[in-house]
Parts: sequence; C-alpha cells; structure tokens
Amino acid sequence: GISEQAADMPEWKKQSFGSHPTFGKVTKLSLTQQRESLPIFRLKKELLAAVLDNQILVVIGETGSGKTTQMTQYLAEAGYCQTGMIGCTQPRRVAAMSVAKRVAEEYGCRLGQEVGYAIRFEDCTGPETKIKYMTDGMLLREALVDSMMEKYSVIMLDEAHERTIHTDVLFGLVKQLVRRRPDFKLIVTSATLDAEKFSTYFYNAPIFTIPGRTFPVDIFYTRETESDYLDAALICVMQIHVNEPPGDILLFLTGQEEIDTACQILFERMKKLGPKVPELVILPIYSTLPSEMQSRIFEPAPLGGRKVIIATNIAETSITVDGIYYVVDPGFSKQKVFNPKGGMDSLVVVPISQAAAKQRSGRAGRTGPGKCYRLYTEVAYKNEMLSASVPEIQRTNLGNTVLMLKAMGIPDLLNFDFMDPPPTQTLYMALESLYALGALDDEGLLTKLGRKMAEFPLEPAQSKVVIASVDFGCSDEILTITAMLSVQSVFYRPKERAAQADQKKAKFHQAEGDHLTLLAVYEAWKNSKFSNPWCFDNFVQARSLRRAQDVRKQLITIMDRYKLEVISAGKNYTRIRKAICSGYFAHAAKVDPQEGYVTLAEQQTVYIHPSSSLFNKNPEWVLYHELVLTTKEYMREVMVIDPRWLVELAPQFFSSCDPRKLSRRKRQQKIEPLFDRYEEPNSWRISRQHRRK
Ligand code: ADP
Ligand code: MG
Repeated sequence: GISEQAADMPEWKKQSFGSHPTFGKVTKLSLTQQRESLPIFRLKKELLAAVLDNQILVVIGETGSGKTTQMTQYLAEAGYCQTGMIGCTQPRRVAAMSVAKRVAEEYGCRLGQEVGYAIRFEDCTGPETKIKYMTDGMLLREALVDSMMEKYSVIMLDEAHERTIHTDVLFGLVKQLVRRRPDFKLIVTSATLDAEKFSTYFYNAPIFTIPGRTFPVDIFYTRETESDYLDAALICVMQIHVNEPPGDILLFLTGQEEIDTACQILFERMKKLGPKVPELVILPIYSTLPSEMQSRIFEPAPLGGRKVIIATNIAETSITVDGIYYVVDPGFSKQKVFNPKGGMDSLVVVPISQAAAKQRSGRAGRTGPGKCYRLYTEVAYKNEMLSASVPEIQRTNLGNTVLMLKAMGIPDLLNFDFMDPPPTQTLYMALESLYALGALDDEGLLTKLGRKMAEFPLEPAQSKVVIASVDFGCSDEILTITAMLSVQSVFYRPKERAAQADQKKAKFHQAEGDHLTLLAVYEAWKNSKFSNPWCFDNFVQARSLRRAQDVRKQLITIMDRYKLEVISAGKNYTRIRKAICSGYFAHAAKVDPQEGYVTLAEQQTVYIHPSSSLFNKNPEWVLYHELVLTTKEYMREVMVIDPRWLVELAPQFFSSCDPRKLSRRKRQQKIEPLFDRYEEPNSWRISRQHRRK
C-alpha cells in the first residue's frame, strides 16, 4: 500500500522512474568509465605535481569537469590523507551532501565512512573519514575551536567564485594559516575567470586550468519583457518538449515554493495534453529537498521521454547533471540582502548578473550543442544586469561573522585581510547590535556571554535567547522553539484541502503567538510518541518535525558541553516569552492606529503575516522573529509581549522612561570608542557626513 508519506505527496512528486517499463534498459557507463571520461582525468598527473610543488593552487575549470568529485580522490590516492583529512568546502548544503554521496559511491564505501560530509546540525563523518565535504560555514565553526585546522592536511575551498560570506572569511583565515603551517596545502577552485583575483590575493599562487569540453549554445531572448515569468517559463518548457529534438531541460527558478508550484502546474498541464505526448518527468531541486528526491535528478529520463529539472541557482555551478540540452532562464534568483533600516537580512528576488546568465546558458552545452531561452530582452541583459554579483559580505548582516571573528581573537576587524572588505557602516551596525545583546562590552571586547554565544550555530539573537533561557528556567522549551524556528514549513497546506488544514492548524494556536504555537505542535507530536500518522492527521510535515528533533538534539549537545542546564518552565509561558524577548527586543513593534504595526527600532511599517496565529487578533505590542518582504513587509512568527520587558531586558537599547524612544545618541556615544581606535579615513562617520551634504 501507499505509505503515509506517499499519500501525503502531491501527484507530480510520485512520478517514478522505477515504474517506467523502459527504465534500466539505457546503457550506462560504469562508474570507472564515467570517472575516466571527465576532462580532469587526463590532467591527473600534472595536477598532483602542481599541488606537490605549490602550497597554494588556484584551479579553474568548467562546471562538470570533475573538480569537486575527483580532486579529493586524487589527493587521497596520492597519500595526502595520511597526516590529516582532505577537506572540501561547499557554499551549499545540498551540494555538500550530494557530492559526498557520489564520491562515496565512486570510492566504494558507505557514506560517513572514508567519505563523509558535515553540514549545520548534521555530522555524517566517522573515525575513518579521509575525505570530508562540508559547508563553508561548518569549516568556519571548526576554526573557532581549532584555528590551525590541525585535522586537515589539505583544504579545498571549492566554488570560490560564489563568494559567500563564509568563504570570504575563510579566505582571510587560511591566508594566515598557510604562513604558520608549511605542511598545509590550500586549493582554491572556481568555475569562472576570476582566477587572477584569487591568485593575486593568495600571494600570486599559480593558476591551474582544466580545459573545458563545451559545445556552442544558441541564445534566444524575448522580444518584450515578460510580465509573468513563471507562466512564460512553463510555456517555454512545454514548447521545447513538444517541438524540439531529444535532450533534457533545465529551468532556473528562485526558491522552494515557486519550484513546487511550477512542478504542480506543469504536471497538470502535461496531463491535459493526453497520452500522445511523450513522457516529461518533472524533477525539482532546492536546498531543503529531502535527499532521496535530490538524487533522482541524476537518473536518466525514460526512453522516448525527457526530464525537466526545475532548480534554484544550485544548478548554476554546484551540481551538474549530464544530458541537459535546453536551458530556460527567467533571469532571477533569490538573494540575501541587508536592509540597513531594520539591520536585518531579507531574502529578495533580484535579477541575476551577466556572469550568472552566462553560467546558466553554459549548462546547455555540456553534452552537445544546446539552446538557452532567456526570458528577458537583450537590452535588459546588456543594460540592466550587473556584470557580476556583489559578494555576499558586502550586502548582508555581519552580526554572526563579527561575533565569530571576535571569538577567534581577531579584534581589529577593519584591518582584517578581506578580499573585498564589507562596508564600514555594516560592520558598525553589527558591533552595535552585538553590544546591545551584551556580547561586546563598552570597549568592543568580547564578553563571557559573547564567547558562549559564538558556540551556537545560530544567529546572535537566537544564541542569546538560548543562553538566557537557562536563567529564566525555560531552556527545555526554548530549545524546542529554537529548533522549530530553524526548520522550514512545519505546516502542510495543500491547495485542495486548505480549509481543513487551516482548521487543524488553528487547534494548535496559542494566544501568546506563533513561538508558543510551534512549541504546542512539537509537544503534541512528542505526546503521540513522535508518530508519523499523527503528523499526517494534523497536516504537519513529519519531515520538518523530525529535522527539528535532530536540531534540538544537536543543541543539547552544545548545552551539555558548556554545562548549560536544560530546565522546563512547565506552563509558565511568561518566562519563555521573556527569554525570547531578551534576544529579540530589537524586533519589537507596536500596533499602529492607522494600519499594521510600527517597529520600535526603525519606525518601519510592518504587518502580521496571514499565516500567523495572531493574524487579525492585533495585540498592542508584539515581537517578530523575522521580516519577509512579499507584497508588503510581513512579520513572520509573531509573539505578544509586555512593553515593560523591553526596558527591563535591554536597558542598553531602550531608554528607561519611554520604550518607544530609542536612546540612539547614548548608544552611539558608548560604541564610538570602538571606532576611535581605528583612524580609518573612510569611517562611517565621514561617509555619513558626506551623505548629508
Ligand atoms: P565540477 O566540480 O568540476 O563542476 P563535479 O566533480 O561536480 O564537477 O562533477 C563531475 C561529474 O560527476 C559530472 O558529470 C556530474 O554529472 C557527475 N556527478 C556529480 N554528482 C553526481 C551524482 N550525485 N550522481 C551522478 N553523477 C554525478
Ligand atoms: Mg564543483
């Protein structure tokens, strides 16, 4: 029979290769043959010689040439794992997992043995592990404990062109490390031609190029701007499927929700075309997709049919699927963007860069001559797109990064050797918010609390909540809430049964808001003995809850390590809310008589998200977990607070007489000594004055 999970799945997700009569008849190359056909294989000797001769090597090669999956294995064969592990960082968790899985297969071991991976809240390595794939964020966390990276003989900073904030910080750290550890090897790999920049930064390291094997790709632009790119993209996919010769399709969209919707619509439209049209297998890929589903993108399409992979920009360079002849590129991606108004990051859909557009079209020319359909005009490409994306470090919140660098004993952040330094003002805001949280003292030095906060793989405000919850006597509940907030989509709301789903969800609603509602869901699940059928009956995503359970366990490990007690507050919700308030006071908002809410910190107009348990209830004072910008600026996960807590818990942030007024001037007076230390010509004060003119 159909399992609970399968019954719960939308129909398009159940499409299966296994049931297809022709599956399995496609002749497949053996793993060894596949490995030996990769462009990097012919260069194995030269590559190993270059690694031997140089402490730092920059490696450039087309996506799919075998850099990520092969180099680590070549290094292992050459004996580099005798003195330590071979570590390879990935900007994305899915890529770390997917690549590790593949390499384990090629290596001939179980995942987690000789070949393993580590991502936040999940360590799949063991004592035998020689090749370790991990997110760049994980390596950064490890460096906090072991600044010499003693466990590794080689580190490969992969996908360096992505320029994630973690990779950028790692650049600075390993650049110092190579000077202190002559036995250590560093490899920096990139898919694009930024090689010179990497080489210059890393003491003019030599550049090793793997010649690509690419075919020409015809590029088509739309004549006019598309008003609905999603619809245009799906029409384009169907046209290719019906009219074009064989070859698989890759469509780039921006995120999970959009991809799931697209899959659903496409599936229904294909069904309407009837049985005469050849089969089109629809496969999504994004970071939160369960791993069984992820690996399906690599399975060949059924004979006579084709597959369409609908992906986020993970498929731009991190993951390569063979057999793609058609790329559909609407020209957008989701990016983390720092909103200086609220001091927070938000994910927004932005046009991609020309470099990204080129990468995307290149995916069509790996197996043979291909076609790329750009759903924007040539004028837009030339005039409206940036030539390359802005590195993440220059556009996001630096709270975590600053905390981590401080905890690594790097006090002078303005003089840290960043490849591209972050804006001084963003740095200033990060220092200010860490000061308000009590992680830094008046001198800008790390406090004891700050040191503990750095141990948690969470946002600084969330770490503060976890640590404070011990004193509030509610760490048990706070760990659950923290874990639940860290997973996405707890509630399942299929379109056909939305009303029923909402009804079930409403039963969990707590008057105090969403944080406690999430707690109630987890507790109820726990009382059902963590049962799957219970999730199914209650329109709750079992997978998300299980993940929350894992995250919770991981957090408890950290709590134990630092002797932080796990105490239950029972039904005392006030304690729980106060603990949350002690970290998220800067997210307080008051109801506005006109409409919505106004945030206390920045006087920004915001609204309660329709999915919130407080939607339409409009309590006077609230605190939100995060803001999401869709049609409006929405607060997601909202909690009712007592405004007196703000003054009580964050006196540095709010003046004691009137919580609605922020003692901004006072705050700045306190923090300014930090900046007097650095006689930076471009300090934030100067740039502010300039702007005033
Ligand atoms: P690069 O890092 O140079 O972009 P990779 O080492 O990631 O290249 O990929 C090399 C080849 O391995 C590609 O042809 C890709 O299709 C294949 N490959 C990678 N991961 C998997 C997987 N999980 N299943 C099947 N093939 C894979
Ligand atoms: Mg790669």
